[in-house]
Amino acid sequence: MRSGSFVLLYACFGVNPRHWVRELSRLAPDIELRVYPEIGNPADVDFVFTWDHPHGFLAQFENLRAVFSLGAGVDRLLRDPELPRNIPVVRMVDTSLVSGMAEFVLMRVLHYHRQMPYYEERQRAHAWAPQRAGLAKDRVVGVMGLGQLGHACASALASVGFSVRGWTRSKAVPGVHTFIGPDALPAFLAGCEILVCLLPLTPQTGGILNRDLFAQLPRGAYLINVGRGGHLVEEDLIPALDSGQLAGATLDVFREEPLPPDHPFWTHPRITVVPHIAALTLPETAAVALVANLRRAIAGQPLRDVVDLEAGY
Ligand code: NAP
Repeated sequence: MRSGSFVLLYACFGVNPRHWVRELSRLAPDIELRVYPEIGNPADVDFVFTWDHPHGFLAQFENLRAVFSLGAGVDRLLRDPELPRNIPVVRMVDTSLVSGMAEFVLMRVLHYHRQMPYYEERQRAHAWAPQRAGLAKDRVVGVMGLGQLGHACASALASVGFSVRGWTRSKAVPGVHTFIGPDALPAFLAGCEILVCLLPLTPQTGGILNRDLFAQLPRGAYLINVGRGGHLVEEDLIPALDSGQLAGATLDVFREEPLPPDHPFWTHPRITVVPHIAALTLPETAAVALVANLRRAIAGQPLRDVVDLEAGY
């Protein structure tokens, strides 16, 4: 057993460390917390908690035992060609992230289901024009990716009565009508009136939201992309909306973030843009999960939520 305290480096670029330092110091006063750029001797660092680090940054820590991601999505982290591949990389699984995502997806699905884009447009014309609304049970909502976040969204949607289906890579999810693998994708898409993307960004899923996929949805379907910007082929979206194949899209994530001010998505009448806020990692809850995993690492126990580096998520 080692005598000195373990060292955790906070290196979440672009994320204010104040709340994290408060929570981590409170929950783990026995773990020495260093905050980038005050690294000290890199050889002392046992664990790095990171977000959006510059490529090569992690290679300087020769005694690193594990890397913890601030986010649930680790696509950017895994793109680092110098990422140490002999130690665990852990993604964020956090209760506030899960409930935040379920709230956001439920809100947008209900918005489309209850024809709010139509009523907003009618309001601008001062037109009193009620329409018949269908029931949630008759509305098919498809969730691509049934992991921590997708499963929570599928459950929340089902609890409101929607007819929910999901698409995964390798395994069915109890209680959800699951379609597995690329062969099942066309059958999954064929019924989806509202499609939610909650896939991780991997070589298999990059660009999956494209013209061919849109063509397999029922005409007038809605898209909610809360996965990653890299899932969407941006050039294919506006033509799909303008042709009526898609009726609307909610986009939380973009290939380039912040979305450039002159990007056509900002002004398209059937696109809703939000600035990557669907689900946020809150230090108040996420630090608890992080510290629990740090304690496992220190005790030599298996870590939770370790990324499969081959699968990319
Ligand atoms: P997760 O627990 O790892 O689940 C991933 C799901 O996607 C699993 O069901 C997996 O299938 C499925 N999947 C992976 N590759 C697939 C493929 N090629 N074909 C079909 N299904 C595939 O991930 P999570 O925690 O739910 O997070 C999902 C993503 O949400 C993250 O990677 C991140 O990009 C995004 N995210 C967005 C925000 C935001 O604010 N917008 C916040 C957090 C996360 P199996 O179960 O069969 O492996």
